[in-house]
Amino acid sequence: MSSLTRREALKTLLTALAIPIASQAEWAFAESSLPQIAGQLYFLKPTDADYAQRRQIFNKRIGLMPRLIAVCLSDKGVQTAIQYAAANNLPVSVKSGGHCFEGYSLNNNGLLIDLSLLKSFKYATTDKSFTTRPGAKLGDVYAYLAQFKRLIPAGSCAGVGVAGLTLGGGYGFFARQLGLTCDSLTRVKLVDGQGKLLDSKDNAELLWACKGGNNGSLGIVTELQFKTHPTPANFTHYRFKYRSLTANKVSALAERWFSLMPNLPTTCYSSWVLGPTQLTILITDMAERSSPPLQTILRQLGKDASTVQGAQKDEFLRGIQRFRGGTEPMYFKNVSAGYYNSYTDIKAVLPSLFMQMQASPLKQNLLQINTLGGAIRDGFRADSAAYPHRNYAYLGEFQVYYQRSSDTAKAEFFVNQVQQQLTQAGIKAHYANYPDIGLKNWPQAYYADSYPRLQALKRKLDPNNLIQHPQSIRS
Ligand SMILES: Cc1cc2nc3c(=O)[nH]c(=O)nc-3n(C[C@H](O)[C@H](O)[C@H](O)COP(=O)(O)OP(=O)(O)OC[C@H]3O[C@@H](n4cnc5c(N)ncnc54)[C@H](O)[C@@H]3O)c2cc1C
Repeated sequence: MSSLTRREALKTLLTALAIPIASQAEWAFAESSLPQIAGQLYFLKPTDADYAQRRQIFNKRIGLMPRLIAVCLSDKGVQTAIQYAAANNLPVSVKSGGHCFEGYSLNNNGLLIDLSLLKSFKYATTDKSFTTRPGAKLGDVYAYLAQFKRLIPAGSCAGVGVAGLTLGGGYGFFARQLGLTCDSLTRVKLVDGQGKLLDSKDNAELLWACKGGNNGSLGIVTELQFKTHPTPANFTHYRFKYRSLTANKVSALAERWFSLMPNLPTTCYSSWVLGPTQLTILITDMAERSSPPLQTILRQLGKDASTVQGAQKDEFLRGIQRFRGGTEPMYFKNVSAGYYNSYTDIKAVLPSLFMQMQASPLKQNLLQINTLGGAIRDGFRADSAAYPHRNYAYLGEFQVYYQRSSDTAKAEFFVNQVQQQLTQAGIKAHYANYPDIGLKNWPQAYYADSYPRLQALKRKLDPNNLIQHPQSIRS
């Protein structure tokens, strides 16, 4: 942190409060006199002690180094940081939970707006709404709301940021019953690319865009409000493992799972997780008792499994926390492996994919297919959110984990090969929250028909493309 004279600090504060960016020359600070507002904003340079910690994201593969980090603790702090970036022609990236697969919350030589310390929770008993700031992480959100016996339908990994998750859509165990995370979003506050603080209560288009179409693109979300839902009393899960796999066996197991899933109750979620030596099928249920259709599915899946883990029934929060995952940064290359309607969509490519997974020297590789459908498809109007993929029944994710940075090139090459085969097999729709920097037609893949509408908003909110990453909305 560099220090300011009292006069400079006062000028900074007054200008920040006035906000319009009329006299940009005023804002052309030298890096030696960066604007700092006590309790609202401070800057870090690569030589500062806290820089490494504030730059750190979950994916150790990403080595991007911002020229400056603006640690923002308030709306005003974010506005001031944006004005500084505009005056100094610094591209801006935004970090909340830091879990972006491709590290789009960082950049090289630009300004990073770090929101990870901007966090607060408020549950209003009157209308059962939940208001939070972008630094909040899912683990804390579940724990906070559970004391009121409420939840928002989010993902399960504790370290994922509620902001990034919601702004790209957000699915998880409760989505088939309650919709995507973004479907529960009722209001946002956002600082646009010109430093203006906007409220979606005066701008319905803004709320629409923040439901799946605003990951580090249109503006910086500083507050999110959600409607909440009652927690179930219990959370139950079942696990089936299959070993001694061959390509034919994998195909047969996939075909059966896909054929059973249309009867999966909407209180349930399932994932089909294929590794080089083992297939794991997970089913979760938020219903108090297993329904007859679920029991039929469980019987079918158990017939030839190597291991069956029967009902593990937990009190709600304990049950969720079993899936909280690790929070220590790791090396990985994970990407969307596309949306599917049925087994037919991946039937042709699955055997060769499995053989490549077996042959790869990077043994921790997985193809995970998750159920969608239910309320995601049927509960909300298509034009209620920028998220465009409601009608798909399944979402795939390809994951490669490794221990040494020297394996990065191998991991990236392997994943690129897999993605090319999926593309050749006709899989073209992808999840924006599982970005793949190698995808060529990403605007269509992530946003489909919502893209032109998002571009129109980008032109209004950030005409100079200040807020950007390799796959941000272009004006
Ligand atoms: C271990 C793990 C588990 C996951 N599980 C799930 C899951 O169950 N369900 C699911 O749907 N997804 C899941 N994801 C994907 C996750 O939704 C995305 O990675 C999400 O974007 C992460 O948000 P973040 O705030 O943690 O990340 P960040 O890296 O901070 O941000 C992600 C993106 O959002 C932008 N962004 C962040 N904050 C703001 C803001 N305040 N205003 C504007 N733009 C912003 C960033 O610029 C970046 O482009 C998982 C990812 C990981 C790594």
